[in-house]
Amino acid sequence: MTHDTSPPAEIFHGRILDTPDDPFANGVLRAEECALAVVDGTITFRGSLAEAQRLHPAAPVTIVDGLLLPGLVDTHVHYPQQRIIGGLGMPLLEWLDRCALPEEARMADASHAATVAGEFVDGLIGAGTTTALVFGAHFATATDALFRAADRSALRMTAGLVVADRELRGDLHTTPERAASEAAGLIGAWHGKGKLRYAVTPRFALSSSPGLLDSCRQTLESAPDLFFTSHVNENLAEIAVVASLFPSSSSYSDVYDQHGLLGPRSLLAHNVHPTDAELARLADTGTSVAHCPSSNSSLGSGLFPLRRHLDAGVRVSLGSDVGAGTGFSHFKEGLQAYFHQQLQPDGLALGPAHLLYLATRAGALALGHSEVGYLGVGATFDAIEVSPPPASPLHAILRHAASAERALAAVFANGTSADISRVWMGGAVGHTRGCHDLKHHTTLEVVATSQPSAPHPRGPHLLKGEQ
Ligand SMILES: [Zn+2]
Repeated sequence: MTHDTSPPAEIFHGRILDTPDDPFANGVLRAEECALAVVDGTITFRGSLAEAQRLHPAAPVTIVDGLLLPGLVDTHVHYPQQRIIGGLGMPLLEWLDRCALPEEARMADASHAATVAGEFVDGLIGAGTTTALVFGAHFATATDALFRAADRSALRMTAGLVVADRELRGDLHTTPERAASEAAGLIGAWHGKGKLRYAVTPRFALSSSPGLLDSCRQTLESAPDLFFTSHVNENLAEIAVVASLFPSSSSYSDVYDQHGLLGPRSLLAHNVHPTDAELARLADTGTSVAHCPSSNSSLGSGLFPLRRHLDAGVRVSLGSDVGAGTGFSHFKEGLQAYFHQQLQPDGLALGPAHLLYLATRAGALALGHSEVGYLGVGATFDAIEVSPPPASPLHAILRHAASAERALAAVFANGTSADISRVWMGGAVGHTRGCHDLKHHTTLEVVATSQPSAPHPRGPHLLKGEQ
């Protein structure tokens, strides 16, 4: 008597939408009612349900309700900032000073950081994000807490200690030597462990001395497959400060280039105001850009020049940029990307396939994860079920949609995290709508009700010279 020792298979059947081929290069939305066989977390068959069951007669069949999409990929998001989403009414430097940096400083408290890390990872996965490039905290202990939370969750995450040694607040400063030694500790503990990877992460050129950027370059070269991320060209006032701090650099991104920090494993967030020379150099080096439209709109940073990026050959993906961004959902981020283009005279007319590609496959490729972002044979089964609650407007829209394109457009226009009913990562369910661990349940007390925020007493003091 022989025993079948092959790993067990699971079959998924339903309406499956993905963009394996780039719609910006003539790819189209693939929309099929079909079955996937998943073995050991990998899709091994895509086709008819009958054939899937013939290949795997003992496999359980999961019927997908609504739509099955690839897991979403967020290529720019800040873990310490999720509790300050909604700081409206300020441009970048003032928002950093008044909202973001005080919250970043709270991450010195290890207990607070561990709690926020759990909330952050739950927030990402609940929004259908299964892969993310994350800015950690300015504190090694807090960044370690982020890796621990991601490791428990099965999120595919690249993240790193955020470093700065000038401007900002003194309690967020490090030194080039300390940055290197703390990074080495975190790399040793987490880089390459399961689905985790380390990213060298200077906050931005504005808060980095040349010595700190040199230290970042040395760290980047210290182990294989390390990633690099930072910010660039987000806001005109920020660009002017960077130009004054680095007079020998020809542009903002040239600061990173001069320190050897651009390349195919580098991703810069925003790039709302690039020069043509910068775009050409980003393309030459293979550096990619995270477009963060809701953040750019919220802070009034500007409208993203997508056409110029694509014409120059620069790879573009989507980032939520929580907490300047207005939430974790890439449905909203895709819609905001669409708005950014609609509002520009030379904007691209984005369709639902473009939005899905930007929210999934483009981010996966930018992060070097060719195995995710689509739902074909050979891909890892990272997927989300979009099944709006009955009686919701989106439920009715999807039931009556005239085509897959219309259904997908409606998901981007109307969808929220609450419409995602199940999330799979590596073939295992990582989230089910409505299932919360009661250990973590707390009564919601709204801490501020009617008190308007006090006017800032001295105006922004992000920069030392203004203190
Ligand atoms: Zn950011």
